[in-house]
Amino acid sequence: MYRTHTCGELRIAQTGQQVTLAGWVQTIRKFGSITFIDLRDRYGITQLLLGEELNNQLDQQPLGREFVIQATGVVSERSNKNPNLPTGDIEIKIAAFTILNKSVTPPFTVQDDTDGGDDLRMKFRYLDLRRNLVKKNLELRYAVNRAARNYLHENNFMDIETPFLIKSTPEGARDFVVPSRMNPGQFYALPQSPQTFKQLLMVSGYDRYYQVVKCFRDEDLRADRQPEFTQIDCEMSFVEQEDILNMFEGMIKHIFKAVKGIEVTEKVQRMTWEDAMWHYGNDKPDIRFGMQLLSIKSAFTKGGKLPATGELIAGTDFKVFNDAETVLAIAVPGCAEYTRKQTDELTEWVKRPQIGMQGLVFIKCNADGTYKSSVDKFFTEDKLKAIADAAGAKAGDLVLILAGAEERTRKATSELRLEMGERLGLRKKEEFKLLWVLDFPLFEYSEEDNRWVARHHPFTSPKPDQIEIMIKNSPVIENAAEYLKHPYANIKANAYDMVLNGNEIGGGSIRIFQRDLQEKMFAALGMSQEEAMHKFGFLLGAFEYGAPPHGGIAYGFDRLCAILGGSESIRDFIAFPKNNSGRDVMLDAPSAIDQKQFDELQIKLNLQ
Ligand code: ASP
Repeated sequence: MYRTHTCGELRIAQTGQQVTLAGWVQTIRKFGSITFIDLRDRYGITQLLLGEELNNQLDQQPLGREFVIQATGVVSERSNKNPNLPTGDIEIKIAAFTILNKSVTPPFTVQDDTDGGDDLRMKFRYLDLRRNLVKKNLELRYAVNRAARNYLHENNFMDIETPFLIKSTPEGARDFVVPSRMNPGQFYALPQSPQTFKQLLMVSGYDRYYQVVKCFRDEDLRADRQPEFTQIDCEMSFVEQEDILNMFEGMIKHIFKAVKGIEVTEKVQRMTWEDAMWHYGNDKPDIRFGMQLLSIKSAFTKGGKLPATGELIAGTDFKVFNDAETVLAIAVPGCAEYTRKQTDELTEWVKRPQIGMQGLVFIKCNADGTYKSSVDKFFTEDKLKAIADAAGAKAGDLVLILAGAEERTRKATSELRLEMGERLGLRKKEEFKLLWVLDFPLFEYSEEDNRWVARHHPFTSPKPDQIEIMIKNSPVIENAAEYLKHPYANIKANAYDMVLNGNEIGGGSIRIFQRDLQEKMFAALGMSQEEAMHKFGFLLGAFEYGAPPHGGIAYGFDRLCAILGGSESIRDFIAFPKNNSGRDVMLDAPSAIDQKQFDELQIKLNLQ
């Protein structure tokens, strides 16, 4: 036995006991003839006291940071207690110690307050993982994993593994491909998700499936994405949307309870995609705070209707608003007193390339009931008041208005809302607000390819009452500029996302399960029959053998952990993550391979 106890478990009650601990030397402090060592393992830190009698051994076998030692001694009450450590009341008076392994000087201090920068810590990730903060994150990840599995197991779900070497059928993201040595010139793809497999499992009768599974997407890595990430992937048969929403609302509540001790009793709020876009400019709204968008003028129609608020700016000759496709406002609470410098800074903020607006109009709703704006020349005070009122502003608020092309302006206003929410401290880390977003559009128009693409994926079914629209109308878009007028633009999907604090944490849909409808869907996406057969013949074939109605969902496991852990970064919750360029800096991967490997694969490099 290397140890009788861990470094996290001894307390005052064990005083007088002889114990043996093993772990890593975190710090060494020498005071005259005695030496204190903080010994660390996964469970905590215990102070060791090495007295005079061990001085000789210490001289001959000096200890250093991160040495692995085994030490035996007696638990004693500490005179100088440390209330910040669970073991802080005691120390071990060491009688003997053995160095189990030495360590070279670590490149950074392995402590909560480390002196190591990001890159260095990633290069030596195995040392970073020794740090308490990182360990806590992995513990939380494991707790979420366990809670999800327990819930799913209790509900009859079965964990079934699906293959990683599959067929390349890119749709949406790019596939990672793997050459096959045994089939020269042919390639596997790594799955972007087990989507088609879980549907096949439904055809096979495994009516409740789940997997905590790696997915691979060769995307340009925007902030906080990983080329390989983990999903809690689920599928159920004989269900309607309502069944899925209830089941997985249950799962997330179970996770909250198990991991955070938070009892979510109320039903998760629901919002249609249209409402989300209309009120928040975003399909994953952060509903921890209000500040909803007012569509003064908009090309986006809600329920087929244009905003009636256009008259707020009618009759004025402010060209910027008159010429704009869309004019949107938000009322920022308590900011009417912003100085010129502050409004200038906000204007610069919206002009940044990421936001891409030309400028910002503001109305100050002064505490004395007067209104002052950056467009006083064009608007009477009455008009300003009318806009401010419509935006829900109160005395003391600042109304911010953006104008321009629909998509950009809506997105920018949404970003501005989030930014102001952040600045005003309205996005509290410890407040969790769940939301279902429902009724997404089935299709999205791809300007690049002048065709429809599946907004979710090609296996998502349209709302039952809208299947007819898909069947009766040709997908061809005659006039790209007017694609919104095409009947396909209004077809809603039987799809849903779960949103937590402004992040999409899960998404899924009720699936198509009839061959002819699935074929129609592929055709709507511009796929020829041959192409559909080549890519998805196996699924179309399976649908002919009694496919049950089914649907499912997948949760982004890394992101869910990060939010529950109060972090912005999913990397903090992955044991061995990649950096922003998709590199594993510890392994130095990706890297070149040997010529022999190329020869075996019969592949010639043709680097430009
Ligand atoms: N496979 C889908 C995804 O990865 C999720 C689902 O529809 O279940 O987004």
